[in-house]
Amino acid sequence: MPLIVDAHADIAYNMLKYGRDYTRTLEETRNIEKNSLTPKENGDSLISWHEYQHGQVALIFATLFAAPIRFRAYENEKQVYKNFDEAHKLYKNQLDVYHRMTDSMPDKFRIIASKPDLNLLLDLWQNPTSQHPVGMVILMEGGEAIRNLSELEEWHNLGVRLIGPAWVGTRYCGGWKEPGPLTKDGRKLLSAMADFNFTLDLSHMDERAAIEALDIYEGPIVGTHANCASLMPNANTNRHFTDRIIEGIIEHDGVIGVVPFNSYLKVGWMRDKGHSRDEVPLQTVVNHIDHVCQIAGNSLHVGIGSDFDGGFGLQSVPSEIESIADLQKLVSLLSARNYSEVDIENILGNNWITRLKRDLP
Ligand SMILES: [Zn+2]
Repeated sequence: MPLIVDAHADIAYNMLKYGRDYTRTLEETRNIEKNSLTPKENGDSLISWHEYQHGQVALIFATLFAAPIRFRAYENEKQVYKNFDEAHKLYKNQLDVYHRMTDSMPDKFRIIASKPDLNLLLDLWQNPTSQHPVGMVILMEGGEAIRNLSELEEWHNLGVRLIGPAWVGTRYCGGWKEPGPLTKDGRKLLSAMADFNFTLDLSHMDERAAIEALDIYEGPIVGTHANCASLMPNANTNRHFTDRIIEGIIEHDGVIGVVPFNSYLKVGWMRDKGHSRDEVPLQTVVNHIDHVCQIAGNSLHVGIGSDFDGGFGLQSVPSEIESIADLQKLVSLLSARNYSEVDIENILGNNWITRLKRDLP
């Protein structure tokens, strides 16, 4: 079984917002939440430490994420911010969660912030035991927790290695649902990020902002979780990557993580409109993987960014997926499309690992 790297997981957000404990089994979590609002809001969980072990998910990009208050889903929602100070506080709390996980259970989770951290983790996964720590590379999604650029050094010292300046539109750039260019602050942010070699995550950035960022950013560039716009015609969203963005990421030797979320795989698919998960086979995910490979002419620029539990769960993923471990089912589907063993290892995890080996301090 190849190692999987999942380039997008809102772990701390789920722990703080829904009280999820990822050391529980999925069965336990689903049972505990059965009569709560959580499955309605966020779907049944697809992630647990045990499933990471079953599926050989060695490494995840663990996010810091909160929404601006204008996008809160309901009145008393807590992981939302009114201003940059509040954003800073929420993101800092989530980062503390990851540090506490690493400190209190290093046999289960550990922050990966350097090449030696990564090499040690990969060595551990070579051991033929059934239990390995899951590595967490810290990704900041939405940049408004960065109140001023002098704070970048502290975020870096605390382990943040990737920054996506947008979720919806931010003061740095246009984003999902709120299109627009890179702002003056956004250009300054990119210039300061490059000083620390932060990886820039183009996911959620509006195309105008992303194209300009591809032109000017001097550090590494990836897209942790986005699908191909050209396979989602008339989707009426700026959330997917156009071929122009995909080409730009490939030119920068980056990687794109595809998202196995039905609404991002089939135009018009919506859980709350009664659509069934059977309408979207896992094969559709392979179409998006293959599209990036066809543009690149190789298998070196695509990976997985599941975003599981990030606003959707079991009810909204292809029917072959009961948990994150089932992403291993991509192996046979890719193989049936003549992808080699090496290609498949690249796609499931090695492409991300190669970039981390290159980009981590
Ligand atoms: Zn996202």
